[in-house]
Amino acid sequence: MSGITCKFGGTSLADAASVRQVVNIIQADPDRRFIVPSAPGKRHPQDKKITDLLYAWHNIAQQDLDASEPADIIADRFLELARELGVAFDIQKHLDAIGAQVKRHKTPDYMASRGEYLNGLLLAEVLGATFVDPADCIRFKETGELDPESYGLLGERLKGGGLFVVPGFYGAMPNGEIKTFSRGGSDVSGAIVARATHSRIYENWTDVSGFRMADPRIVPDARRIEEITYRELRELSYMGATVLHDEAIYPVREPKIPIHIRNTKAPDEPGTMIVAERVSVKPVVGIAGRAGFSMINIEKALMNKERGFGRRALMVLEEFGVGWEHMPTGIDTMSIIIRDEEFNGKGPLIVKAIEERCKPDEINLVTGLAMIATVGQGMNHHIGIAARLCGAMAEARVNIRVIDQGSSEMNIIVGVEEADLEKAVRAIYYAFAWWE
Ligand code: ASP
Repeated sequence: MSGITCKFGGTSLADAASVRQVVNIIQADPDRRFIVPSAPGKRHPQDKKITDLLYAWHNIAQQDLDASEPADIIADRFLELARELGVAFDIQKHLDAIGAQVKRHKTPDYMASRGEYLNGLLLAEVLGATFVDPADCIRFKETGELDPESYGLLGERLKGGGLFVVPGFYGAMPNGEIKTFSRGGSDVSGAIVARATHSRIYENWTDVSGFRMADPRIVPDARRIEEITYRELRELSYMGATVLHDEAIYPVREPKIPIHIRNTKAPDEPGTMIVAERVSVKPVVGIAGRAGFSMINIEKALMNKERGFGRRALMVLEEFGVGWEHMPTGIDTMSIIIRDEEFNGKGPLIVKAIEERCKPDEINLVTGLAMIATVGQGMNHHIGIAARLCGAMAEARVNIRVIDQGSSEMNIIVGVEEADLEKAVRAIYYAFAWWE
């Protein structure tokens, strides 16, 4: 394994100056041979992302309305990029071809993918690299999952020496139709390319210098995470840490290719390493929380003696098509914690159905909860973590509504009132930030 796969996010490729910076980064290390670009992102906070404009173009055109506004902005951005970077090929011809297709595609995938496609063509030209279209070698199954054959197909195309550009965000269905990953999916493409090429590292270049131990909007001086395992990251991103697409770890986890999160604007900063196993023994690596949860509390005397009680309650959720997150239990009580967007207003109906099905002594629905995950594989068999966490919450005068520790002993989840979310995250952060 020698090559490096580099994925560059939208803000890293938003204008010609940024693209030149990306070219410098790539050329600084001859091992950086597999390049995965996103579509151009925002140049400033009020700017528009090319991908958002492509979705808008498709949406407007499908309603037979005049889509010239998004189409013109997209054309201007790409023509300006091509001019400033001095590329020779005729980008207008590509834009015309895309415009001619917009009505043909019922789903927005083809249009949405064109930001990465065009940016990939531009970057390949600037770098003098070979352009590889993922429509030919990243395949989805009918079910929408990635077809693992993609690794072999891509690997074949990326063989031999030289530099390659593979646009992120899309592949194709078995019938050849373009399909995209979910938003932010170029991270997933990068991971697939890293695996297909047996890269020794997957560098994910973005606009921040790695993950922080807590959301910097809540703890502005939160420390950078130097090292985090795939499993720890999965737990944190589930609760809202958003630097990397949460599916990006799956392709690289098995071959244990580390992901290095780095900042295009500050390439000398060390970033965050995502690895199979940490060298550091720090018990807690990060804290993430989010609002928007509700909890169904059910009470019934001798619940544990009643065979099938839990199943009947959960079956109601299944029938309503609602997934649940956590299920802490007591002696005669069980609680089911559900995201509000899953409930989608069906909470009272579900409570009524559980009441009919399970005949509990007591049932109620509590809304307005926030869940906070304190994550670290070093917690395993480490005495005093829960005590420290609860002590910090008590000192900050935050009431813990519910607490849950999974069997993996790498995550303690506490539920608090939404209004206490930020206070609680800060308290937990300061309790663990310097605890080695
Ligand atoms: N351009 C796509 C998006 O905005 C994919 C990506 O940037 O990763 O979601």
